[in-house]
Amino acid sequence: MMAMRNHRNIFSSLLRSSNVCGICGVLLLNCTVYAQNAPAYVDPQIKAALSEISAGQIQSDIEKLVGFQTRSTISAQDAASVSGGRGIGAAREWIKNEFERFSRDCSGCLEVKTDTFTQPVSERVPSPVVLANIYAILKGINPEDAKRIVLVTGHYDSRNGDPLDNTGFAPGANDDASGTAVSLECARVLSRLKFPGTIIFLTVAGEEQGLYGSKHFAELAKAQGWQIEAVLNNDIVGGDHSPGQDAKAVRIFSESIPDNATEAQLRTIRALGGENDSPSRELARYIAQTARTYQIEVSPLLVFRRDRYLRGGDHISFNEAGFAAVRFTEYQENYAHQHQNVRSGNGIEYGDLPKFVNFGYVANVARINAATLASLASAPGPPRNVRIETKELVNDSTLVWVGPADGRAVAYEVLWRSTSTPDWEHAQSIGNVLKATVPVSKDNVIFAVQSVDEAGHRSEPIVPAPER
Ligand SMILES: [Zn+2]
Repeated sequence: MMAMRNHRNIFSSLLRSSNVCGICGVLLLNCTVYAQNAPAYVDPQIKAALSEISAGQIQSDIEKLVGFQTRSTISAQDAASVSGGRGIGAAREWIKNEFERFSRDCSGCLEVKTDTFTQPVSERVPSPVVLANIYAILKGINPEDAKRIVLVTGHYDSRNGDPLDNTGFAPGANDDASGTAVSLECARVLSRLKFPGTIIFLTVAGEEQGLYGSKHFAELAKAQGWQIEAVLNNDIVGGDHSPGQDAKAVRIFSESIPDNATEAQLRTIRALGGENDSPSRELARYIAQTARTYQIEVSPLLVFRRDRYLRGGDHISFNEAGFAAVRFTEYQENYAHQHQNVRSGNGIEYGDLPKFVNFGYVANVARINAATLASLASAPGPPRNVRIETKELVNDSTLVWVGPADGRAVAYEVLWRSTSTPDWEHAQSIGNVLKATVPVSKDNVIFAVQSVDEAGHRSEPIVPAPER
């Protein structure tokens, strides 16, 4: 019954349209090229918020963080250092005060919290040290959607050449005052708005000593059963002014096979070619689509690997805890300007100083983050239990799913792409049905389904599991 209704749905849209889509090589389907040309919904409220993101504010945040001289995780955090404005304790108090200030400006809309714990001795922690992650929660206004959380993070700790140096100047302007400023700026502009879903603005410590802050937070989230659907980790997003930099591109790293995939999931991935469709990678594609929708001047460059060679970051802590998480990093890093003592030699200036940061670039990266957070927090929940029928050998493909619990989906979109194509190529809008048959062979493409609300906000796409 549902299948027939849906057939009518697709074919009635065909009858209404004389377009036969030659681009996609499918003769019987009215389809669109999703990546560039689909009429995506631009939410005027989100667009206005993006214009509020300020390069000047970001510059002021980065300079303030650099002004603490060192934010080494093992630097001072006693009362005298905090009041003297030096060390990680002072940086932490300032970040907390900023979140609290934003909250006062929105009548207490943010819940500002501290996740504090003692990190035991390790290779880069010579004696037990208190770590604190600072975060602000903008709780969703729709009780069902408020369970769904999207999160932005950056690490506020810094280091210089020696990771055990806890007193020397370690400005960390790009690594990672830039990412901290992205989280703060997203909080400042988005806290003025209300969303159905929940947004967490996080800043973590302990990254340079071994991802300790993010690991603690991700494990806390897992233990509490928080439904975190997206983690945007910003680390080294300063757009360093060096030859070879591309100030129009930001890399988005995403893991391939999920870190926590079960044996059964791994078997399916091997059999059907799911290596390129982890939840983190769908998130990366969603970010790229959102940047195009809002015509942001910096474009995501999707890198299909978890992180750079020999490097890691806080998104990995979230991946390991089973959450979809990606890393934003500038197009080309200047290694003389990170993890280096401030000095000159052989005509090279070393050190992670604010003068090397492109504040306008950071603002655009913040816009991509804010647009993604706001879009996901506005969208209905994704379709649940998405399956593709495989019982019969047919050349059409039939997908079935269950609507999101929030009841806000008024339509769905079926997306697909060739198995060897990196991003979605085609989108077919269908009505408020829970089954769709598309005259394309599932053997040749990868499908996904996303929910659409009344206004046009789209959820993350969900790739179907085979139904036998
Ligand atoms: Zn970093």
